[in-house]
Amino acid sequence: MATEKRCYLCAALVAPSVQEMREQMKVAYAQGADIVELRLDHLSQFEPAADLPLLLNGRPLPVIVTYRPFWEGGKYKGDEASRLDALHSAMLLGADFIDIELKAMPVFSAKMQDNKPNYCKVIVSNHNFETTPSADILVSLFKEIISSGADIVKIVTTAESITDVWKLFQILAISQVPTIALAMGEHGLISRLLCPKYGGFLTFGSLASGKESASGQPTLSDMRNAYGLQHVNKQTKVYGIIGKPVGHSKSPFIHNAAFRKVGHDGIYVPFLVDNVKDFLNVYNTSDFAGFSVTIPHKETALECCDEVDPLAKAIGAINTIVKRRNDGKLIGYNTDCEGAISAIEDGLRGMISSTGGSPLMGRYFVVTGAGGAGKALAYGAKDRGAKVFIANRNYDRAKSLADSLGGEALSLDQLNAFCPVNGMILANTTSLGMHPNISETPIAKDALRNYSLVFDAVYTPRYTRLLREAEECGAIVVSGLEMFIRQAMMQFSLFTGLNAPEQVMREKMASTSSYL
Ligand code: NAP
Repeated sequence: MATEKRCYLCAALVAPSVQEMREQMKVAYAQGADIVELRLDHLSQFEPAADLPLLLNGRPLPVIVTYRPFWEGGKYKGDEASRLDALHSAMLLGADFIDIELKAMPVFSAKMQDNKPNYCKVIVSNHNFETTPSADILVSLFKEIISSGADIVKIVTTAESITDVWKLFQILAISQVPTIALAMGEHGLISRLLCPKYGGFLTFGSLASGKESASGQPTLSDMRNAYGLQHVNKQTKVYGIIGKPVGHSKSPFIHNAAFRKVGHDGIYVPFLVDNVKDFLNVYNTSDFAGFSVTIPHKETALECCDEVDPLAKAIGAINTIVKRRNDGKLIGYNTDCEGAISAIEDGLRGMISSTGGSPLMGRYFVVTGAGGAGKALAYGAKDRGAKVFIANRNYDRAKSLADSLGGEALSLDQLNAFCPVNGMILANTTSLGMHPNISETPIAKDALRNYSLVFDAVYTPRYTRLLREAEECGAIVVSGLEMFIRQAMMQFSLFTGLNAPEQVMREKMASTSSYL
């Protein structure tokens, strides 16, 4: 039986001195790297005869020696002959891999001629710092690199959109020789994270944030601990969050921890997507099993689904897409709504004895905000039998939402004086109070005395000014963090068909957010 190709985790070391590079090798070993890349061009002083033995003797891990010239995006500006001599010396001194740029390969091949040691593999690399060429051009490049005498092919491009990465996955799919195919830049992140799934020879990680050797490189620690790349294989299902921006999202940390807890063979990654339709058209294989959707794509994504849950359709926005296993159809859901409403209901149940139905039935429910979260809360409350009021800065948006569900509209200015009954419920879905504008709030403190429960969708910080003041006025408060965790748990169940491991997800959320 053929064994699956292993994808190595390589720590790219960019230390300014030989001594620091030696120390970094030990750190990379401790962090679980399989290989280290020594970027000689980052050393401020380098004497090959004296320094190469210091770097290579007693090394804790196999090394790739790279001496990248300026003309290929590196820092080395000296003469070419000295550079190639240094690489040749590294090869003879026992380096496990040497990285040579495709353009330098004819001269280097002549230098190696009959004295290339068997233990040393030559990685022939090509970097494109502007774009990702067409699939045809990439295939030609791939063939040219093989014919140059490469033991390992390395193609690095720049992703201008996430669909560019798919072309690199196709190169990995057709390759019969060890191949590294990666895309730089924020859009290229999945080329680094899904490398083990597509059989890439290795993927690079940095030792710490700020120590990257190329743009878009994640840390080795995140690759192992957050994404669990060492567990990813050809069969692993891919999930992720579609958004723009998406780099700040905590969802990958929470979902990957949950997958590992229940033993689900999945990886959850950030998808930086400009155009949802193009993204879903390209990443349409059964490997891509489920997506979370965030700003600004919640409404467009709904249009791309084959079927949409009725409540999500009424809201007009989805935050979850599941690829149905039997027919590959895309089914859209809105777990924001259920996540928030169930958290508010549980808050109310703590106050009053449950009568069996929803404690929202017949209650006055005031929503501030009429955007995506506002719609989800308003429809959810209406669905539970509450009397819904929408207060929004832009009155026309409040009116249109209120009309669509048989509620009433207010402008945000009217909110402080609004008190048809005591004991109302307030749900803030504006971004007022969100980090860094933590002193903002949608309502005066005095007016909060009219409410028995106050919910805030904002969860950075966890205790917003609104919640603090509501608590001081005697109201029950429910944090947006509770909505976030619950919507994520529901997504997890839709993705996997399993109960979500709540404790792990809550712990992960608490440990990965600096604002809570
Ligand atoms: P959205 O669609 O952009 O809507 C933003 C809403 O905030 C609009 O109603 C807007 O009013 C209002 N707004 C923005 N700035 C304002 C200001 N300076 N003064 C008064 N109103 C203002 O955004 P969204 O997706 O609904 O998200 C809204 C908030 O909910 C964000 O803080 C988001 O992080 C949070 N959220 C939390 C969760 C969770 O799981 N906890 C989930 C989704 C969203 P106009 O119509 O007048 O512009």
